[in-house]
Amino acid sequence: MKIVFCSSEVVPFAKTGGLADVAGTLPLALEECNQQVVIILPLYAGIDRKKFNIEKVQANVYTAKLGRSVTVYFIENEKYFGRGGLYQDKGIDFSDNLERFAYYCKQTLEVLKKVKFKPDIIHCHDWQSALIPVYLKTLYREDAFYKKTKTVFTIHNLGYQGLSPREQFPKTGLDWSLFTLEGLEFYGKVNLLKGGLLFADKITTVSPTYAREIQTKEFGCGLEGAIIRRRKDLVGILNGINYKEWDPQTNSSLAKNYSIKNIKDKIENKLDLQKVCSLKIDKKAPLLGMITRLADQKGLDIFAEIAETLFKLPLQFVLLGTGEPKYHTLFEKVQKKYKNTAIQLKFDATLAYKIYAGSDMFVMPSHYEPCGLGQLISLKFGTVPIVRKTGGLADTVIDYTHDENSGNGFVFEAYSSDKLLDAITRSLDVYKDKPAWHKLMKTGMKSDFSWKQSAKDYLKLYKELKAHKE
Ligand code: ADP
Repeated sequence: MKIVFCSSEVVPFAKTGGLADVAGTLPLALEECNQQVVIILPLYAGIDRKKFNIEKVQANVYTAKLGRSVTVYFIENEKYFGRGGLYQDKGIDFSDNLERFAYYCKQTLEVLKKVKFKPDIIHCHDWQSALIPVYLKTLYREDAFYKKTKTVFTIHNLGYQGLSPREQFPKTGLDWSLFTLEGLEFYGKVNLLKGGLLFADKITTVSPTYAREIQTKEFGCGLEGAIIRRRKDLVGILNGINYKEWDPQTNSSLAKNYSIKNIKDKIENKLDLQKVCSLKIDKKAPLLGMITRLADQKGLDIFAEIAETLFKLPLQFVLLGTGEPKYHTLFEKVQKKYKNTAIQLKFDATLAYKIYAGSDMFVMPSHYEPCGLGQLISLKFGTVPIVRKTGGLADTVIDYTHDENSGNGFVFEAYSSDKLLDAITRSLDVYKDKPAWHKLMKTGMKSDFSWKQSAKDYLKLYKELKAHKE
């Protein structure tokens, strides 16, 4: 089958979050299933053309290879993509994002024709590529090249919908008749994600629980009505992770590699992390790690409420993250007040590996979490996740307090600081019982969240779509 992946970010070329991980690794898993996959993304100024051997193929089209044979096409446009930042500068969205990504979507459909790659499936991700299903059913409706092409639209995070003022609607190239409640209009604005939601043949999101949650008022972000109307075409497929990158046995950034067979070597990474972060070298102190975008979604408000109590306990805390200025201020204060904390307000992939390997626990108190990669990575690294029961966290972490046999972490349900503190306290209690803690670590390390199963689920969906004649 011929499959095109359309994503505004793809590892290893450009990344701001989990979307890039999915868009760069799921194609490799599909390739393993003998599918022909092409990826298309904008050629941002920050992409290193030399490092990735990116070569020009046509006027504004460049190409590189990923994995064994996945072809990546990059769309060049100096005006739209020749700037620092993918979507924003200093926390403020670019005002021409609609125009930039409408251009990317149209060019994607043109480039595929130019390179003669006639897709069975175009798989679009998030608001940046959401106009592609819309264009195929409107501007390209009569185009013979795309007659048999079907579309899948994946929602990675409903909190980001690609909103623009109504005056910008003509920049989409679409007829005003589509700017209605049943179309791309959303409280007087243009909503690009809504376009994908309404026009794609199938919709997926990144965990079964999140697929249910987004049909409710609490998590639907105002689009729950539209989502409920498309409920029969919606499916939740859990993200996987790439164990070639996320494996404590082979990762070259660790002080000492380890696996389930020599789990005791993990301690060397704790000592290394304490050194790197200027914390007291202490084998015994439980070390809590957190790597996150500093955004409301991630539960930082309830975490802030317990800071006073938490950091007075005999434990250590490392945070790696960037994001909203209010959280930068908050954690700068924490750093000044508590010697047992190390606050790293930056994006740092190498330090992230060290934190996953060196921490004892990994905290994710998210208000909502479509899938979450942090808990999957920590499980593999024998670092016990403490999570709120929502979205993909609910689908992947089993509470040890309730089920000592299959438990792989600590889970709390109500979104409250009390419940979060209770879950952390429960983990600290079990941590004191070494045999129990080792069992818990091993249960996590044994779990398989590779792409193998999820790639099969996507493939099944593509095949169903292809077989469906309309
Ligand atoms: P989201 O996509 O909502 O930000 P995910 O849990 O799905 O959250 O994915 C986040 C990914 O980005 C993880 O791989 C995490 O390790 C990584 N990450 C987040 N913040 C940082 C940071 N400051 N430095 C390094 N890696 C980070």
